[in-house]
Amino acid sequence: MTQPAEIIRKSFGLKEEVKPQLAASYHSPLIEKIKANGFRHQTGRLTFRLAQEFGFCYGVDRAIDYAYETKAKFPDRRIFLTNEIIHNQRVNQKLREIGIQFLYGPYSSGVSVDDIRQNDVVILPAFGAMVKEMAELQKKGCVIVDTTCGSVMSVWKRVDAYGRDGFTAVIHGKYDHEETRATSSRSLQYDGGQYLVVRDKEQAQKVCDYIEGRGNKEEFMREFGPAASPDFDPDRDLGRVGCANQTTMLSTESLEIANMLQQAVSARYGQSEVAARFRHFDTICSATQDRQDAILKLAAEGVDLMIVVGGYNSSNTGHLVEISLQHCPAYHVKDAECIISRGLIRHKKVFSMDEIETSPWLPEGNLTIGITAGASTPNRVIEEVITRVVELGAAPATGALVCVNCGAELESRSCKVRCLRCGYFEDCSDGGNDTPNKV
Ligand code: SF4
Repeated sequence: MTQPAEIIRKSFGLKEEVKPQLAASYHSPLIEKIKANGFRHQTGRLTFRLAQEFGFCYGVDRAIDYAYETKAKFPDRRIFLTNEIIHNQRVNQKLREIGIQFLYGPYSSGVSVDDIRQNDVVILPAFGAMVKEMAELQKKGCVIVDTTCGSVMSVWKRVDAYGRDGFTAVIHGKYDHEETRATSSRSLQYDGGQYLVVRDKEQAQKVCDYIEGRGNKEEFMREFGPAASPDFDPDRDLGRVGCANQTTMLSTESLEIANMLQQAVSARYGQSEVAARFRHFDTICSATQDRQDAILKLAAEGVDLMIVVGGYNSSNTGHLVEISLQHCPAYHVKDAECIISRGLIRHKKVFSMDEIETSPWLPEGNLTIGITAGASTPNRVIEEVITRVVELGAAPATGALVCVNCGAELESRSCKVRCLRCGYFEDCSDGGNDTPNKV
């Protein structure tokens, strides 16, 4: 008889051993330098300002560490990831290069769970895995390295409690996102357990309308069918609701959605019933919140444009773009290749999966460019983007006058002019050495 799987949820103690490999693939001397310089980097006419919190979060750092440690621990065994470890092409490709295979998703090796043998090792990503997926793997008796982030597990605890206590879990998220699929599957462990995933306030309003008796069942199920538990019935299952979120949603929107639902429950059943029919716990993870707060702060301090680096299917990266766009032009790029030229950038359109091109995107003159990155973006990729922008765009436009001291473009063409960036005073009126550089 097959032994149940061994589940490992901690480091193998090989962190130091894999450190050089991780450094070679993901770390960036330039980003370290920028951080040491007060998150600021100036070159020619461009000033880059890095958000105080950006890039790899604690959950992603840990998942990648464990994947490399697993390879070091079991060099001769077949090692699989259930799906993308995080939403970053570079990271997933690197894992393939070291011999880790994928069971599902865009990097699938064609090996299915049915083919998993007792001697194999299967890594679960930071998003976690669905309950039934986990059960199938456990039956195989393989070694399971579970890198599910602790913040995702906190959401699961809430959703478990909702299911146990007869509340439908209303999850603010994307129903087909790996994390949300894993989270919603928790509801189905309980008799009558139900879930409903709402994408945004617009969808939440439709749920509220239904709670308050203004909905049409057919229309409701047409819209929410794929986002609801298999035998979800809005007439039966919206009487007691508990809110949760995918950990990487826009925190302000999650809070608004919870408030909307609470008001709908109150309007339908009366304020006295709210405690018995409505529950809410904020399950946005602290790393997501910190990145959203940091981009707000950076935007408020004033940048001319924002570049947000991250995978196009990365939910938390998308929200950083949404926040940025409320303050300035913002471009969501996946890597340096998106910076095509000084005049042309390729980027993901907000609220859509379309990749579009924008021209012009980099105005002339002195510019402050805000930089941030989603929780699954390695510093190396951010460095490459900054380097590419510098290569193509740091030089002043032809004919511009530049400060001989710092390289910034001078705002005036007069012979006596003070550089607004470094304060250096140019005086070419005597035709002497202080003549501003003309490009
Ligand atoms: S974004 Fe948050 S929940 Fe997701 S892996 Fe990172 S820390 Fe964990």
